[in-house]
Amino acid sequence: MTVQDVCDVVDDLAPRGLAYPWDRCGLHTGDPEDDVRCVLVALTVTREAFAAARRARAQMIVAHHPLIWEPLKTLRAGDPHTRLCLDIAQAGIACYGAHTNLDVVPGGVNTAIADRLKLRDTTPLLSVPQAQQVKLVTFVPATHLAQVRDAVCSAGAGVIGDYTHCSFSAPGTGTFLPNEKTDPFSGRKFVVNEEPELRFEVLAAKARLPRIVEALLRSHPYEEVAYDIVPLENVDASIGLGVKGHLDRVITLGVFARQVRKALGARFVRVVGANDRRVHTVGVIGGSGGGEIAGIPHAVDVLVTGDIDYHDALAAQDRGLAVIDAGHAAAERWVVPVLASYLKARLKKVRVATYIEPDVFRIITE
Ligand SMILES: [Zn+2]
Repeated sequence: MTVQDVCDVVDDLAPRGLAYPWDRCGLHTGDPEDDVRCVLVALTVTREAFAAARRARAQMIVAHHPLIWEPLKTLRAGDPHTRLCLDIAQAGIACYGAHTNLDVVPGGVNTAIADRLKLRDTTPLLSVPQAQQVKLVTFVPATHLAQVRDAVCSAGAGVIGDYTHCSFSAPGTGTFLPNEKTDPFSGRKFVVNEEPELRFEVLAAKARLPRIVEALLRSHPYEEVAYDIVPLENVDASIGLGVKGHLDRVITLGVFARQVRKALGARFVRVVGANDRRVHTVGVIGGSGGGEIAGIPHAVDVLVTGDIDYHDALAAQDRGLAVIDAGHAAAERWVVPVLASYLKARLKKVRVATYIEPDVFRIITE
């Protein structure tokens, strides 16, 4: 198993194409060809997470927060973060970050938090442009339809709700004239050939297209594969920023805030809104959800997030939205065991270790 194989498996869950354009996901240190026998999963690549990776003899760290966020201007060791990057590179450890792509997929950061809070009927909270879908169309001889369909659907095309391998095919006639440089799969050179073909079409997430087209080209028998990528208005309903869901019953904000603190194992939570307010519909955005306050649907009674600042808290209060800030690490670190279980299931021969990040803040009230 190589570093690239592990990157591909993370990409199956959270394709890099689903990250926001300003994000810096991906492989930040290491060689894609290196062998991996142990992966450490962490929330952030801190000095402590690096030490945990050394102890576990891991060749790779998969984290939610990308190792390099602000581009490094020099590689001088005086700056603590640059020193950490150098130490990781010197240790030959590959670092992969799945950031906003892991914020918008089912099974990612926000699902992990929503599951801890036992929310029901969960759906994405906010729509994102990355959820756009396309139609992939190709033309294939009937003898090779199953082979092409299996390849593109295994790469992630043709998913509608809980159904996979959804596609359509219809017969027709293709024409082509091969020149002297060609080696055609069928027909004769230097004449216009007419061949029976099937028009095969399938829905695909735009974010997954690179892997799907690669699978198409690998499985299709033709020397030159004709295919169309058609933009659609459709979006993948399972993709979106945050999660929305319901509590079992209506309870007060004060009671729910205590439940959140306990469920997330947070030292403390900060609350915007009166304790006796009634809450039932909950929005979840791990990390800094403050910037999204204006777009939170009015049906949401309370937003559980991880890092809200003063002015965003005031904005929430002004629009009557209750907020529970559980702390960035306390909320998001729940994705670590979820991601580790996923990797264990997919990477049978690789050992998977975890580093659970403690909260950086203490609170003093007396
Ligand atoms: Zn975060």
